[in-house]
Amino acid sequence: MRQKIFPVFFLHRFIRFIFIILFLVYVWIPSKAQVVGEVLPQWTIGTLDIHHINTGKGNAAFAIFPDGTTMLIDAGSTTRSGPRVTSPRPDGTRTPGEWIVRYIRHMLAYESSPVLDYAMLTHFHGDHMGDLSPQSKTSKSGKYRLSGITKVGEDISIRTMLDRGWPEYDFPGSIKSETMDNYRAFLGWQREHGGMRVERFQPGRNDQIVLVRDPASYKDFQIQNIAANGEVWTGVGTNTRHHFPSLDEVFPGEQPSENMCSCAFRLSYGKFDYFTGGDLVGIPPEGVPLWHDVETPVAKAVGPVDVNVLNHHGYIDTENAFFVSTLRPRVHIIPVWAPSHPGSRVLNRLLSTRLYPGPRDIFATNMMEANKIVIGSNLEKLKSDQGHILVRVVPEGDTYHVIILDDSAETYKVVAVHGPYRSR
Ligand SMILES: [Zn+2]
Repeated sequence: MRQKIFPVFFLHRFIRFIFIILFLVYVWIPSKAQVVGEVLPQWTIGTLDIHHINTGKGNAAFAIFPDGTTMLIDAGSTTRSGPRVTSPRPDGTRTPGEWIVRYIRHMLAYESSPVLDYAMLTHFHGDHMGDLSPQSKTSKSGKYRLSGITKVGEDISIRTMLDRGWPEYDFPGSIKSETMDNYRAFLGWQREHGGMRVERFQPGRNDQIVLVRDPASYKDFQIQNIAANGEVWTGVGTNTRHHFPSLDEVFPGEQPSENMCSCAFRLSYGKFDYFTGGDLVGIPPEGVPLWHDVETPVAKAVGPVDVNVLNHHGYIDTENAFFVSTLRPRVHIIPVWAPSHPGSRVLNRLLSTRLYPGPRDIFATNMMEANKIVIGSNLEKLKSDQGHILVRVVPEGDTYHVIILDDSAETYKVVAVHGPYRSR
């Protein structure tokens, strides 16, 4: 009897040992670290990924939330060209909208039919929504033409589309252009045939953009809507304040600009906080009323964050001293497409330890040689000046890396890994 019992006992231990090894391999493979020179390891459950995609033609940020909920923030495709605009990335053989679609599909390769649970336009400028050009192709339905957001939505189903104007598109005045008419035709067709829901982005709310796959497992994830159309969250409950005066009290030449109306939000995951606010303005031109500074009330609502995406590409009218010293980010991200991104004094403020103490790392998607010549040594302090910028936050949000991906081809190779940074 004893001779039979012992082999069975060892067999059980052996099987258990094999199971433990298989489990460790299973745990280890998905959390494989990103290594310079290798392809970016795929997103895994519990991780928060925010990709700042560089097409050279405007903003596009693609996020995979901890439960797999997906969101696109802007799909820029400016038609501006010439020496004062960055070159298309990876190259000009496809439109920016096509490159964005391919990027998203690559990152969602683990899904059999990838969808965007949310897409949001911060505001209605071509470098955020996509300009139409004579070369813009027509959709399969024939009802609209394909550029930035319309190309993305044609190829990848968008479940909820958010913007600052739905459904009237009449603030601060009627928003009319060929590109807007085309966007509205896109919304109309997608609502009727694509199952898309369209909503106006509502400042103050923290339940408009939510996890839709497994919210119960990630209760410490939240998107707090901060501002749109000059309506700014107060920081209390869902209360907001109208920062702009009543428009009938405003001189015609001093009406709020499209940039000032941008949608802004703060994303939080555990201790990690991230701010993005389209092309908000914080340093108005001389002579206009002080309420043209939208950054100041926004900063009061947002408070300190770990990662800040520069407003308006870091142009001279942004990142005012109060805003920088209030958000005091560890990481700044600059979405660049022109030699004026960032302004020289903007960069001085980002680097100023008078405005806030401690280290900070600055990353730009696409710095131009012209800018390096003009700004000089301060630009050499950037941690990266070319490539897609991925912010990858670990499960529960305690730490994060900033990973630079090669934007010269679709290899999604890791060029550099910065961090880990500790969330504050
Ligand atoms: Zn812009």
